[in-house]
Amino acid sequence: MRSSDGEKNQADGAPSVALRRGPARHLRSARSWIALGVLAPLGMLALSAVMLFDLRRDAWEKAEQTSKNLLQVIERDIARNVEIIDLSLQGIVDTLKMPGLADMDPRLRQLALFDRATTARDMGVMLVVDENGDTIFDAKTVPARRVNNADREYFQLHKARPDHGLQISPPLISRLLGEPVTVLSRRIDKPDGSFGGVVQASLKLAYFSALFDRIGLGQDGAINLYLRDGTRLMRYPAVEADIGANIAGAPTFQRFLAERSGSFTGTSVRDGIERYYAFTQVGDLPLVLNVALGTREIEAEWQSKAVGIGLAILVLCGLTILLSLLFGRELRRSAAMQAELARLAGTDLLTGLPNRRRFEEAFEQAAKASRRADRPLALLVIDADHFKRYNDRHGHAVGDAVLKSLARSLTESLGRPNDLAARVGGEEFAVLLPDTDRAGAARIAEAIHAAVAGLAVPAAGIGPGSITVSIGLAVTAGDRATEDLYRRADAALYEAKESGRNRTCCAPGAAEEAPDRPPTRLTAAPQRRVAR
Ligand code: GH3
Ligand code: MG
Ligand code: MG
Repeated sequence: MRSSDGEKNQADGAPSVALRRGPARHLRSARSWIALGVLAPLGMLALSAVMLFDLRRDAWEKAEQTSKNLLQVIERDIARNVEIIDLSLQGIVDTLKMPGLADMDPRLRQLALFDRATTARDMGVMLVVDENGDTIFDAKTVPARRVNNADREYFQLHKARPDHGLQISPPLISRLLGEPVTVLSRRIDKPDGSFGGVVQASLKLAYFSALFDRIGLGQDGAINLYLRDGTRLMRYPAVEADIGANIAGAPTFQRFLAERSGSFTGTSVRDGIERYYAFTQVGDLPLVLNVALGTREIEAEWQSKAVGIGLAILVLCGLTILLSLLFGRELRRSAAMQAELARLAGTDLLTGLPNRRRFEEAFEQAAKASRRADRPLALLVIDADHFKRYNDRHGHAVGDAVLKSLARSLTESLGRPNDLAARVGGEEFAVLLPDTDRAGAARIAEAIHAAVAGLAVPAAGIGPGSITVSIGLAVTAGDRATEDLYRRADAALYEAKESGRNRTCCAPGAAEEAPDRPPTRLTAAPQRRVAR
């Protein structure tokens, strides 16, 4: 009885254990090559993902730092200029309280009222207007240019609210300059505390646009300066319709107001572009400044790098996978080839049956299993009768055909998967029948005789019944040595030949065997039967 699959495979035509060891090792390494070919690209992908993630973070950090720096520079510039103008306005308010100012020489009064700040490049006009809105003093000329500002919002506001402080107006067109300005103004109180007019300075909006223009922010980049009420004073890039527009209701502006300074990513209400906003209140002024960078532009450089690196990594991964698949396939092929070679080394090429070499290996294993399990092992040694005649009469090719059909008859006569038929010589075959007793083996021998009797080679004029075989049968039990099983079966075959061929002779059992006792004869065909 066979005890393992390995042994069973051997009977089915697989290579020997020794021969399979090589291919199995190769197969294992083919698998490991394929695994490596998949793992290595996965590793590469993971690494490049980490690298790209890092690059993206760097791009964002750079953008954040840039907008923070810009914001600081612009904020300081605006705060300083507005502060200088406001100090001048406060100076004028204080000077106006000086006794005797009205009686002073107009030129001296002019010097006392207006300092050099009034001549700054982006300064528009600096005026003092009375409680009716008419100009009294003008920084530029004496006497003052005549204009009435009573209708201006800032004038109305100062008139209504005594303690309002500095007012920065929405963009408006200066009546004296004819260009867009924002007006910075303070209230003048009469000695009795009642409204005495307004001191005002206009700052050209061109100042802001020139300041913003000096900064390159990319196509989607923007700089905005708002009054706290949401009115836009200036924008970069400047579009006329944007100046003076109010965005108080926009969620982005709500965030500007809620925090003094900060940053966030949001979508612009103006153009729907997603931007990274850095914002701050300008000093203590009612102004909000923001610098916005298009997120698309922040990531553009990173994205082009990512696409390049990603493509290169994908190509490398693809190549690695392809190469390891090819290599794995080659290893499998060579393993299969070795397995096939090993199989062929144990196969008889004419009949396709296992050859003597395989038979001997199988016999060793079957004998071992029989001893271990204490089960009988039967062996038939089969020899074609007068085979030489076929060759002589019909030629070698017909002889070959007869051998092939004999091999088929043997295979067809076997019943169990562990039974093994082999070609052990020219026209000699052996059938190994594990776990089979004498009666069982005799039945198989009978089946073989019957199958052979049916063989014919019509082309050569060989009809059914012409081909016969003689069979020597020997059986061993577990307690018997198996070494001489073949010798005993061979002796029985000799006996079968001697006693007339086309029959089976049985080697005597353990108890009955004596050195001089010949194998038991079987009756000759057609009443052939196994007997002792
Ligand atoms: P016996 O009944 O005593 O066995 O007579 P026999 O003629 O069968 O026995 P013998 O041993 O005298 O001859 C066997 C012949 O088998 C000799 C050889 O030419 C032939 N033979 C051996 N191998 C092959 C083969 O592969 N093909 C062919 N066609 N003939 C073979
Ligand atoms: Mg022979
Ligand atoms: Mg023969």
